[in-house]
Amino acid sequence: METSKTAVITGASRGIGRAIADAFAAAGYRVVGTATTDAGASSLQSALNSTSGEHLGMVLDAASKDSIQAFCAGLAAAGVTPCVLVNNAGITRDNLLLRMKDEEWEQVIQTNLSAVFHLCRHFIRPMIKARFGRIINIGSVVGASGNAGQANYAAAKAGLTGFTRSLAQEVANRNVTVNAIAPGMIDTDMTRALTDAQREQMIARIPAARLGRVEEIAGLAVYLASDGAGYITGETVHINGGMYMA
Ligand code: NAP
Repeated sequence: METSKTAVITGASRGIGRAIADAFAAAGYRVVGTATTDAGASSLQSALNSTSGEHLGMVLDAASKDSIQAFCAGLAAAGVTPCVLVNNAGITRDNLLLRMKDEEWEQVIQTNLSAVFHLCRHFIRPMIKARFGRIINIGSVVGASGNAGQANYAAAKAGLTGFTRSLAQEVANRNVTVNAIAPGMIDTDMTRALTDAQREQMIARIPAARLGRVEEIAGLAVYLASDGAGYITGETVHINGGMYMA
């Protein structure tokens, strides 16, 4: 498999990230997917390789600078230079601001925003050198709409939009695009954590009257990485069943 067609996808063990990893593998990319544990990384690697390729599952804790450094060093040692980076890993630590603890703020900002800065700074140089690269950041509708109880998460996801636009302007003339996808309510462990009543309330606010499917996010990620999407950059594309129209 060509190293020029390697896609790194963070948080690929479950949910949206896993669907994105499967879609890139199906599109012929070599996938490097991450999980937070050895067991998660190894089961991801086996699952991806059960159909095709020489895919890798690796450990990454986006909340730790040391882990990000070790992940980048591990990839370099394996001679892997990705042309696609999908920053998908994300967490929520919901609380009303009055009750929000320092660690709830810091973990969410570190995992959902600062890690994106560190990973992009590492991978952008070889993309610029290769005169080709695709960075796709997974944001959230909440970054645009806000949401009570999610000031930390909304701040991180809104920050991602400004980061995406700025980096896009820095590297556009090197044929490197930087875009974000902002999902609405998608059916994953993250939304399964809601109570039935909370889910019903959410669905009542969605004109499509259902949660989104992970494949509906993955398809756009593969398109944004394609040659055909080379003139799209700095965009945040909302996929939310009409819940929020930007
Ligand atoms: P999920 O089902 O909870 O999966 C989260 C993924 O991120 C897992 O692979 C998990 O790995 C990984 N992860 C968790 N903490 C991490 C850390 N500290 N470092 C690195 N990886 C970590 O989440 P999801 O719903 O698929 O969400 C994926 C992305 O979409 C997130 O950025 C989220 O904010 C965004 N999003 C989701 C929704 C939604 O409705 N689901 C809506 C808008 C935006 P382990 O398996 O090892 O824990």
